[in-house]
Amino acid sequence: MFASIRSRLMLTYTLVIAFVLVIVLVIILAFLARNPLASRQAWQKIRTLMTVLQGVQALDFNTPQAGSKFIERTSQVFGVRVAVFDSTGNLLQDSDANTSASLPEFEILRNRAENNPSAWFRDGTGVIWLYEFRTLPSGFSILLATPRPRTPFIAILGDEFIRPFSWALFTALLLSLILAGWMSRWVAAPLQRLAQGTKSVASGTYTPIPLEGPSEVRQFGQAFNEMVLQVQATQRAQRDFVANVSHELKTPLTSIRGFAQAILDGTADSIEATRQSAEVIYCEADRMNRLVHALLDLASLDSGTIKFKFEQFDLVPLLSDTAKKLSPLAAEAGVEVILDLPETILLSGDQDRLAQVFNNLLDNAIKFTPAGKPVTLAAHQTSDWVIVRVEDNGPGIPREERERIFERFYRLDKSRKSGKHGAGLGLAIAREIVLAHGGKIQVESSPTQGSIFLVRLPL
Ligand code: ADP
Repeated sequence: MFASIRSRLMLTYTLVIAFVLVIVLVIILAFLARNPLASRQAWQKIRTLMTVLQGVQALDFNTPQAGSKFIERTSQVFGVRVAVFDSTGNLLQDSDANTSASLPEFEILRNRAENNPSAWFRDGTGVIWLYEFRTLPSGFSILLATPRPRTPFIAILGDEFIRPFSWALFTALLLSLILAGWMSRWVAAPLQRLAQGTKSVASGTYTPIPLEGPSEVRQFGQAFNEMVLQVQATQRAQRDFVANVSHELKTPLTSIRGFAQAILDGTADSIEATRQSAEVIYCEADRMNRLVHALLDLASLDSGTIKFKFEQFDLVPLLSDTAKKLSPLAAEAGVEVILDLPETILLSGDQDRLAQVFNNLLDNAIKFTPAGKPVTLAAHQTSDWVIVRVEDNGPGIPREERERIFERFYRLDKSRKSGKHGAGLGLAIAREIVLAHGGKIQVESSPTQGSIFLVRLPL
C-alpha cells in the first residue's frame, strides 16, 4: 500500500501533522484545566476580603474565644480558609485545623507573599492553595487561602469545547492532507521523471532526462544522462568493432575463395597461374592469421587475462635487436635505420611485449618513409623515465588524427585494400601494452619532417 515514495511521504506528513495537533491539543487542555481565570478570581476574592478585615478595628485575637468565633464565621460565609499567627509566628487559629491540610512554616508563608500578588503553597495532602498574607498593626498576621480552582478534563470537553475542537481538528487534518498530497507530489515528481527516463532507455526510446527539480535529482539526472551517452558510445564502438572485423576478414576471404575457385575450375590452367593463385591464397591466409592474433591480443589485454612477465632487463640490446630484425624490410624499402642508443638502460617490464611495441613503431616508420631517407631509433633516460623515440621522414600525421591513430582499426589512408599496411590494430595494441607498464605513448608530427613516436616508461 505504501510502496511508492509519494504515498510514504504523504503518510509521513500526515503523521507528523497529526502528532503536532495532538500535542497542541494536550497543551491547550492542560492549560485550560489549570483554569487561570478562576484562579485570578479566587485571588481577587481573598484580596478584597483581606482589605475588609484590615479595616475592622475591633478584631481581637487576644481573647481566643472571640477570635475563633470570628474566624469560623468568616470562613463559613466567604468559603475561605482563615489562619491567625501571633507576632512570634505561632499559629493561634486555623479554620481548617481539623483537616490534614497542614500549613507551611510561618516564615515561608510570609516571605512568599511579600510583593507577590499570586502566592500559593502546597499543603500536606498535595492540594495547591492560593493565599493572601498580611501582618496587622497589632502584630497578628492573618492568612486567607482558598484551594486553586481546577476544572476536570471531562468538564472542559463537555463545556462548549468538544464542538469547536472537533471542527478545528477536522479542518486542520483536511488541510494538512491536501498540503501533504501537494508536497509529496512536489517531491516525488522529479523522481518519477527519473524513473521514466530510465525506463525509456530500456525500451530504446531514450530522450535525455530534463535537469529540473532539487539539486540532488538534477545531479543524478546529469550523471544518468552522461552514463547513457557512455553506454551508447560503447555500444556504437562494439558495433563498429564487429563491422570492422567482418570487413577485414571479408576481403582476404573473397580473394582466397576467388583464387581457390580458379584452381578448381581450371581457370588457372598453367603451372605458373596455379602457383600464383596458391601464393595469393597463402598471403591472404597469413594476413587473416595476423589479424586474428592481433584480435586475440586485444581481447586478452582488455579482459586482463594476459600475463605480463615483469623482469629487470637491459632495454638497449632489445632495441638494437628490433632494428636488426627489421633490417631486411628497411633494405627493401631503401631506408637507413640510425640507432642513437646509450650503453645500457636497465628497466623492469615484459621484454616480449615491449619488443612487440617497438617492432610495430619501427615497422610503421620504415613503411612510411620514402626510399633514401633515414629513420631514427633513439633512447635516453631521465631520473624517473626511459624515453624511446622512433623518428621517421614519412608524410607525417595531421594534428586532428594524432589521438585517433591509437584507436582500433583506425587508418589514415581509409582504403582497406590489402597492401603493405595492416588492419590498424598495431598502435592500439602498443598503447595497451605501454599503459600496462605504467607508461605513455604519444606522437609528434609535422608534414615536412615526418612523425616522432615517443614511448615513456617508468624506471
Ligand atoms: P597498421 O597495423 O595498419 O600499421 P597501426 O595501428 O600500426 O596500423 O597504425 C594505424 C594507422 O596510423 C596507420 O594505418 C597509418 O595510417 C598511421 N600511422 C602509423 N604510423 C605512422 C607513421 N609513422 N607515419 C604516418 N602514419 C602512420
